[in-house]
Amino acid sequence: MEYRQLGETTLRISVLGFGASPLGNVFRETDPGEGVAAVHMAVDQGINYFDVSPYYGLTLAESRLGEALEGRRDQVVLATKCGRYGGSEFDFSAEKIATGFEESLSRLRTDYVDLLQAHDVEFGDVRQVVEEAVPAMRRLQEQGKARYIGITGYSLKNLMEIASQVKVDSILSYCRYNLLITDMEKAMVPFAKQHGIGLINASPLHMGIITERGAPEWHPAPQAIRDAGQEVVALCKARGVDASEVALRFCLDNPDVASTLVGMSTRGHVERNLKALATPNDPALLAEIAEIVAPVKDFTWPSGLEENWG
Ligand code: NAD
Repeated sequence: MEYRQLGETTLRISVLGFGASPLGNVFRETDPGEGVAAVHMAVDQGINYFDVSPYYGLTLAESRLGEALEGRRDQVVLATKCGRYGGSEFDFSAEKIATGFEESLSRLRTDYVDLLQAHDVEFGDVRQVVEEAVPAMRRLQEQGKARYIGITGYSLKNLMEIASQVKVDSILSYCRYNLLITDMEKAMVPFAKQHGIGLINASPLHMGIITERGAPEWHPAPQAIRDAGQEVVALCKARGVDASEVALRFCLDNPDVASTLVGMSTRGHVERNLKALATPNDPALLAEIAEIVAPVKDFTWPSGLEENWG
């Protein structure tokens, strides 16, 4: 496993990160015992970066991850979030950041996290995130309960607006750098370098679009993007390779991203995603994929408050 430093923090995290949202049945029902086995396998194979949120499965993912990490807490870099607690439940007030986080700690069976992030900040008022949420997270850092703090979301414009007004240690964006979209590279990478911010890239499979099973019902992408994803899956199959592995490897090859977070809930996923680490992509296949994707490349959808879109 390769490890990279997250921005200017002292955290060294695996380039392949374990996204724990599927443990909360976000994509479909998952088997709790298999989820625990997947976490154990990941730790044993050198994956040290785990990402979760109280929002995933409405606390279920945190509880399951906490249970799975019992006895292994000191081997991992644990990241959770605050400010988002449901599909449309957001609260970036200083008070809720502090009280919500105590509940996360208890579900995660630990007394600190390595990274605490304000979750999906484009749904909040920029001023409140800057003046309340981030300072509240810094206070938790001063108390030793969070080693570093960051922000996460979909809108690159909003993430950069916040991070240019208040210092954060990391930014996580999702569905902005993978086979279907690469705008994170143009917009966010130079910004992050300039501000000494670590970058985390989530959803390398475009939240399930680049998988045999396809996207879940709730996926916000229009049909044309889902169709392009399935065409990529079919092309890879015809070439005898697994599209999810190709998609993940494409993301892992970006040196400016500290870790790529892929959602996993089974040992099969862990195994296949580890395999992607060891299997370079064929440039000819990538060129064919680029042709399929061209008509929908870099397409985005609205997310959060309208003034934050972008
Ligand atoms: P993803 O693109 O990683 O896709 C996950 C889906 O792909 C799941 O259904 C999973 O079962 C499946 N999958 C995983 N490996 C596979 C493989 N090898 N073959 C076939 N299918 C496979 O999307 P994601 O889970 O949304 O993103 C990854 C993680 O990033 C999340 O779990 C979460 O921790 C984090 N994330 C954070 C935010 C945020 O903070 N705003 C947003 C999105 C994701």
